[in-house]
Amino acid sequence: MRKLLALVSFAVLPLSAQAPATPAEALPCEALRHKGNPTYKACYQRLTSATDPAVRAEGLWGVGDYRSANDAFRDALKLRPKDPAPRVRWGRMYLDHWQAGEARDLFKEAVALKEDYAPALLGMGLVAGEQFESQAIKNAEKALQSDPKLYEAHELIARVQLEDGSPEKAAAAARKALEIYPEALDALAVLGTIDLLDDKKESPWMTRALAINPGYGNAYAIAAHFFIITRRYEEGIAQYRRALELDPSLQGARSDMGVNLMRLGQEDEARKHLEQAYAAGYQNPETVNSLRLLDSMKDYVTFKTPTTILVLHKKEAALLRPYFQAEFDRALATYEKKYKFKLKKPVQLEVYPNHEDFAVRTLGMPGLGALGVTFGYTVAMDSPSGRKPGQWHWASTMWHELSHVYALEITGHRVPRWFTEGLAVYEETAAAPDWGDRLDPGAIDAIKKKTLLPVTELDRGFMHPTGPNQVMVSYFQGGKICNFIDQKWGYDKMIAMLHDFAAKMTVPEVIEKEFQMKPEEFDRQFLAWLEPQTAKTVSSYDDWRKRIKGVSDSVKAKKWDDVIKEGEAIRDSYSEYVEMGNVYDFLAQAWLAKGDKAKATKELETYSRIGGRDPETLKQLSALQTEQGRKKEAAATLERLNLIYLEDEAAHSRLGALDLDLGNSAGAIREYQSVLQLKPLDPAAAHLGLAVAFKTANRPDDAREEVISALEAAPGYKPAQKLLLELSGKE
Ligand SMILES: [Zn+2]
Repeated sequence: MRKLLALVSFAVLPLSAQAPATPAEALPCEALRHKGNPTYKACYQRLTSATDPAVRAEGLWGVGDYRSANDAFRDALKLRPKDPAPRVRWGRMYLDHWQAGEARDLFKEAVALKEDYAPALLGMGLVAGEQFESQAIKNAEKALQSDPKLYEAHELIARVQLEDGSPEKAAAAARKALEIYPEALDALAVLGTIDLLDDKKESPWMTRALAINPGYGNAYAIAAHFFIITRRYEEGIAQYRRALELDPSLQGARSDMGVNLMRLGQEDEARKHLEQAYAAGYQNPETVNSLRLLDSMKDYVTFKTPTTILVLHKKEAALLRPYFQAEFDRALATYEKKYKFKLKKPVQLEVYPNHEDFAVRTLGMPGLGALGVTFGYTVAMDSPSGRKPGQWHWASTMWHELSHVYALEITGHRVPRWFTEGLAVYEETAAAPDWGDRLDPGAIDAIKKKTLLPVTELDRGFMHPTGPNQVMVSYFQGGKICNFIDQKWGYDKMIAMLHDFAAKMTVPEVIEKEFQMKPEEFDRQFLAWLEPQTAKTVSSYDDWRKRIKGVSDSVKAKKWDDVIKEGEAIRDSYSEYVEMGNVYDFLAQAWLAKGDKAKATKELETYSRIGGRDPETLKQLSALQTEQGRKKEAAATLERLNLIYLEDEAAHSRLGALDLDLGNSAGAIREYQSVLQLKPLDPAAAHLGLAVAFKTANRPDDAREEVISALEAAPGYKPAQKLLLELSGKE
């Protein structure tokens, strides 16, 4: 290996065993750029007049003229339709220009032309790596099989391993790259990053990289990426600053820094860097969307208390505020006690009714369908109005995210992803048993196929999932591990673990210290604990699936006796299923059709207790409970609905009436005010309800004001006239 290097040292870059994808004419320019020699641009400039379009494309790309380079690559493909090389180079340019989809197509075409073409396989790996897909390593390994000298493939493996939280494997891969090519800058940067993540101020690896190329700011941009994905935002931003000091033209780093400053609420500086990157031509979706989001922030209002900063969209602020503020305060007070930890500053909670705005906040973060994201002291989440009613539980999500704030702070942002997620999932159901997620088909499948990950590898399930379900399954598994720890050793063990992670202990070290066993033994005991809880559902799941379909068909055919017989037979084999088409809803419909309201209520109560979230079903349950004179239960059902969905005028109005009957004037005031926020068809009734609530709460002036509003909306409204007289008579 070393011998080959000596032979090619004139070109700086090592020759691969296969013909390189880059045309020979461009190699000297690439070598100059690699060394940070500023004449590289002039070198590329010379290529822009080459007759071979593939060479011309390299030159145009090298000077940053992507559009003309694109045309030149197109010509190159026409000229050499069977050659995979220009396709791969074109793909690499797309990758450089944040168009991973186009890049992937070109790499695929190249592989179709030559299936063991290492540069194309590497390209596929790079695309997968950018998108946090699990095939990144597989593709890199395939590329290495066909070209063992392809040091970039080892660099890719190093990055992915470090993303998965395996610094040892990452370092080993980086060293392999350096064995092939001692000047592999990204490999040096990964090794340097491992030192920096370990709290070393400087790293000899970084020094070595800068000795090769003094302007290699990308070394610190790579480090910044790893600080950010491990949620160490402040430190990540500091690394971006170092990167930009060395190379102010690194617009990608500048944009990333802007995005992360925005996440931390430092909006002015964020805007400055994002605008600068944009003006310099770096107009990738992240930059454009973040600037757009900063512009839309003028539509948000901020409410502050000594411990909380609540940011709501002005169109729904009045409706959301009482409910959100109450849960926000309650969660912080609960966690302060549970975690035995006082936060150093107020937490900022931002609630986005427009999912796209929220999505901008989560950019670059792996994981599907996020509802909330925590960046240190800033939490961003969807608004209940931003998604389909009943699709999720906003209070549960809020408590989940606020748990992250504590886990991140206590550990100095050193908590592994799986543990902070597991703890947050655990806290959801600890707050209320009907919150949080239930055992879902993805988890059932993973348990059946034994694909739950060992605890030491669980981060991989979040970072580079192998299938569409693995992220969700990993949340489930993390949560269950915390349940297991809580039941077997007690809650304080989890707090102890946070402090261990703060002391920079690894997962195996923490497990050995806290549980006196090896991680393998911990996995074994955990699975043995989980097995009996899930065995019934796992073993009968396939049968249940077939039969629930039959029950659904019987509902459609109104064969109520069949629904009841079969529904009751399968109900308890997968009792946690409360999503669309659940057995409780079917059974309730059947009992209602047969006139047995008590039995229907019982089914729906089970549905609600287990965590069912459909607003219509919950309203139906509350109506049944009201009819049966169980007003307290009826109110509680609607209170539950409030934590799921807030835009249901009828529900607020019914809860207001129930609260009045139950003597809960504070609740009634809040509910009637919510009705009015929703611009009801019959505002007079809502004003009157609010007036009565104020009267009960001994606030006669407010009551009178509301009665007058009621009469303004409906002048001949008798009950309002009566109340006005009553209120006047008392003076
Ligand atoms: Zn989370």
